[in-house]
Amino acid sequence: MRKLALLLPIGFLAYLLFLVVMNDAPMDKFQRSIVFVHYMNTSIWAIILTSSIQFYMKYNRLKQKGGASLIYFILAIASVTLLLNELYLLLYSLNSSYQVLDNGGFFGLPGPWIASKLAVTVGGLSIIYLYIQGRIDKIAFQSSTDELTNIPNRRTLEDLFRSELSRSKRHKFPMSCAMIDIDFFKKFNDTYGHQTGDYVLQQVALIMDNGKRAHDVVARYGGEEFIWLLISSEYDDSYLACERLRKEIETTEFEFNEKPLSITVSIGVASFHGEGEATVNSLIYNADKSLYEAKNAGRNKTISFKESDS
Ligand code: GH3
Ligand code: MG
Ligand code: MG
Repeated sequence: MRKLALLLPIGFLAYLLFLVVMNDAPMDKFQRSIVFVHYMNTSIWAIILTSSIQFYMKYNRLKQKGGASLIYFILAIASVTLLLNELYLLLYSLNSSYQVLDNGGFFGLPGPWIASKLAVTVGGLSIIYLYIQGRIDKIAFQSSTDELTNIPNRRTLEDLFRSELSRSKRHKFPMSCAMIDIDFFKKFNDTYGHQTGDYVLQQVALIMDNGKRAHDVVARYGGEEFIWLLISSEYDDSYLACERLRKEIETTEFEFNEKPLSITVSIGVASFHGEGEATVNSLIYNADKSLYEAKNAGRNKTISFKESDS
């Protein structure tokens, strides 16, 4: 599409060269420079038009309607108008009877001429801005999300954890941190292959993400370890929620390449009671400690951290 747009300026350039070579250009130096400006603008708008159509289709496909795709749609409509305007001015000036300065207007320059220059500048800058913004959005998404499971990664979790904990402290609300680790996952990979392991990781992440409450956070903390932040949830409720999750995973039959598969998880939970000195690190540390206990107690278990343990 963009290649097609390049044919237009190249075609005009060839035509102008032809006129110069034939020494048959029906215009003076001043007119030639006007033609050149219109020729440049025509090319720029042709490129902006095709780019915005391309980006519009891309964002529309990504279902990011509104926002970016709407802006590109408006830009496409605007650039069609301005492309036609520039094309008209180009053909008109090529016709050699068009003397820009004779038309009068603002500071001796005609309104449409100034408007078209302004439009080119604004349009050019906006396409650069949108392109950069698109790249930034993509990079931000990639760096905050785990590629395999599409849930927040460890870095994002730590940021969210800090802000949720300080909010809980401010409002004196409880919150809990559950660490979930798949049992004997190394053996699972060795038996069924890494690809099957990846699939199961994705499914476990999906179960947790679908099961959590709207304000909770589920993130991939490491290889086969996940963290679930239960917002406004105290000790007993968090234990029960984790037990529900553990049982759901235990009874889910995953199917990969028509092979039925099942796994279990061990969970360690630590709670902030609404008051006290808990930190992100201490909660993760305590949840990890309880997880270790759950593993030692035979796996497929949930263990809550008690203050007396520390
Ligand atoms: P335990 O019950 O004590 O947790 O045993 P385990 O085998 O699950 O624990 P261990 O820490 O020894 O092994 C974790 C395994 O998780 C090792 C690795 O093969 C697997 N793993 C980590 N990340 C991924 C991943 O992205 N994809 C797959 N398929 N496997 C992974
Ligand atoms: Mg494990
Ligand atoms: Mg592990």
